[in-house]
Amino acid sequence: MRVLITGGAGFIGSHLAERLLAAGDRVVVLDDLSTGSMTNIAHLVGRPDFAHRIGSVTDAPLVAELVDVCDVTVHLAAAVGVQLIIDQPTATIETNVRGTEVVLGAAARKKKLCVIASTSEVYGKASKVPFSEDDDVSLGPTTHSRWAYACSKALDEWLALAYVREKKLPVVVVRLFNTVGPRQIGRYGMVLPRFADQALAGQPITVFGSGEQARCFCHVLDSVEAIARLMKTETAVGEVVNIGNDHEITIGDLAERVRTAAGSKSDIVRIPYDVAYAKGFEDMERRVPDIRKLARLTGFRPEITLSRIIDDVVYDRRRARAEA
Ligand code: UDP
Repeated sequence: MRVLITGGAGFIGSHLAERLLAAGDRVVVLDDLSTGSMTNIAHLVGRPDFAHRIGSVTDAPLVAELVDVCDVTVHLAAAVGVQLIIDQPTATIETNVRGTEVVLGAAARKKKLCVIASTSEVYGKASKVPFSEDDDVSLGPTTHSRWAYACSKALDEWLALAYVREKKLPVVVVRLFNTVGPRQIGRYGMVLPRFADQALAGQPITVFGSGEQARCFCHVLDSVEAIARLMKTETAVGEVVNIGNDHEITIGDLAERVRTAAGSKSDIVRIPYDVAYAKGFEDMERRVPDIRKLARLTGFRPEITLSRIIDDVVYDRRRARAEA
C-alpha cells in the first residue's frame, strides 16, 4: 500500500511513517513544518519507499496530486497543543477545518480510504468516566479559545461522517487521547516533555491548577499501532474510534514520577490556570478513554506502561538537550 500522511513530519506522523515502512508499505509525507520538523523524518529521506513534500494541507491542488498517487490518506495535519491554540485561535480554526475539507474532497473523487485524526478534546468538559465514542460532547462558551479547537475537530468529524453517508467515502475517524513519547516537544504546551525538560534543567516543574486533575498517557508507538491496524480493518469504516491508554495518573503525581526518573532536585510548583494560560481557562478534571471498541475492531489494546513512557520521554529530552 502507498500511504499519504499529512502532518507526517510531526511527532505522531513520523512514528506512523516508521511503523508503516517497517511493515512494507510505502509512505508519502506532506507537512508544512509549522509544528513538525525535518529532523523527525531526516533518517527516512532517501529511502526508495519514502517521499516527502513540504506544503500545506490547505493547498488543494497539491493535496489532490498526492491523494491520487496513494491508496490511503492518514490526515494528521492540524493545529495542536493547548498553548498554541490559545495563542493562535484563527489559524487553529482555519487549518483544522479547511485542511480536512481539502483532504476529504480530494479523496472523494476516487473513493480513497481516509483516516481522519480527531481528539479527545471533543468530549469537552463532560465528567463521565470513561468516555465512549457515542457519548454527548459538552463544550464551553465561544468566548474561550480552548473550545474552538474542540469545536474545529468536532466539525471535522461531522464532515468526515457526512462524506461516509452521502458520498460513500470510506473514512475512519480516530479520537486520540493524550499521546506522548520520543520527539514530542513541550513548546506547544504538552505536559510530559515540559516536565522532563524542567526536571533535566533543574528548573521548577510547573503543575497547573491543583495537580489533582488526571490524564491517561498513551505511548506513541501504541497509538500508531492502533492507527495502522484500523487502516486495514474493513469494519472500522464509518466508525469513530478512541485511541488511548486507560491507565490514569494525576498531574501532581506525574510531576513527582518525572522528577524521580530524571534524577532531578527540581521543586514542584503550583501555578493557577489563569496565570498559566488565560483568564477563565477551563481544564478537564479527568479524561479516560473507553478502548473497548478499538479492541473489538482490531484485537489491540495500548499497553506500554507509564514507567516506560516516562523513561522514554526523559531519555529523549536528555538526548535533545545534549544535541542542542
Ligand atoms: N499541565 C501542567 N503543567 C504544564 C503543562 C500542562 O500542569 O507545564 C497540565 C494541564 O493543565 C493539563 C495536563 O497537564 O491538566 C495535560 O496537559 P496537556 O496540555 O499535555 O494536554 P491536555 O490534556 O490538556 O490536552
